[in-house]
Amino acid sequence: MKTALITGGAGFIGSHICEFLLGKGYKVIAMDNLATGGISNISHLRSSKDFTYIYHDVSKHIVVNEKLDFVLHFASPASPIDYQKIPIQTLKVGSLGTHNTLGLALAKKSKYVLASTSEVYGDPLVNPQPETYWGNVNPIGIRGCYDEAKRFAEALTMAYHRIHQLDTKIVRIFNTYGPRMRKNDGRVVPNFITQALKNEPMTVYGKGNQTRSFCYVNDLVEGIYNLMLSNISEPVNLGNPEEHTILEFAELIKELTKSRSKIVFRPLPIDDPHVRCPDISRAKKMLKWEPKIELKEGLRKTIDFFKYNKNQD
Ligand code: UDP
Repeated sequence: MKTALITGGAGFIGSHICEFLLGKGYKVIAMDNLATGGISNISHLRSSKDFTYIYHDVSKHIVVNEKLDFVLHFASPASPIDYQKIPIQTLKVGSLGTHNTLGLALAKKSKYVLASTSEVYGDPLVNPQPETYWGNVNPIGIRGCYDEAKRFAEALTMAYHRIHQLDTKIVRIFNTYGPRMRKNDGRVVPNFITQALKNEPMTVYGKGNQTRSFCYVNDLVEGIYNLMLSNISEPVNLGNPEEHTILEFAELIKELTKSRSKIVFRPLPIDDPHVRCPDISRAKKMLKWEPKIELKEGLRKTIDFFKYNKNQD
């Protein structure tokens, strides 16, 4: 039986990875300090004998007393509102947390997966973004704490790969949505769905002509699993290449929730990327992966979660 440690295992994406790997017959250790994750995301897994949860801040030294076949470093705030509230923790989990998890993987001779982000491309001047694009990041802006932490994390991961021959993979995750996003995490999907369900004004920032491309979490997790089993050490974009303006997205959520909300316009946050869309040619070719779940289908499942799940933090 293979064992995987998932840092950020009680988070949105981390908890879906834990569940997926348990389903594949892995022994799973979720590590989280609950800075932005929630125990309710993993409470349904805790009865499994193959699942362990450890409360720990991975910016501090990590001790695990068993063999590990995989270390997946997914701990980090990921919502702009969250990481701007706790920028120092965000920088620490991306730097010290990456160092600690890489060191652990080296000691345990594990394979290593780093959760990176489309934010490494900043406000991109190339659209869609291929992995070969180096990005356009403001290092000292309000998003710099996240973007630069992840860029450092990628650099450190490649250094461990080159110097220690550690078997590493880097996934650049684009906007992902689905059940277990936090209602109040400030991101566009939870905001629009909660506002629409309450018939409250839906807050579009700027003119709403900035674009994003939304990938349903189950699709993403399949891609991460393919990457985890591959021997690809260069970064791989995972996301859905269907690009929409934020205004279109607000209108779609309004329609799907049959909401009476008005769409209102609010100032565009500083350094908000104008466009974002993954070029997934590498994932298609090397992982034989592409997303399958249609936006409307994924949104319906997410809306149901926000409507009916009483267990949210
Ligand atoms: N956004 C919006 N209204 C909201 C929340 C976000 O118009 O209530 C916009 C935000 O300005 C950005 C896009 O939606 O252009 C996606 O924002 P999110 O915070 O989800 O993540 P990002 O992709 O910027 O990291």
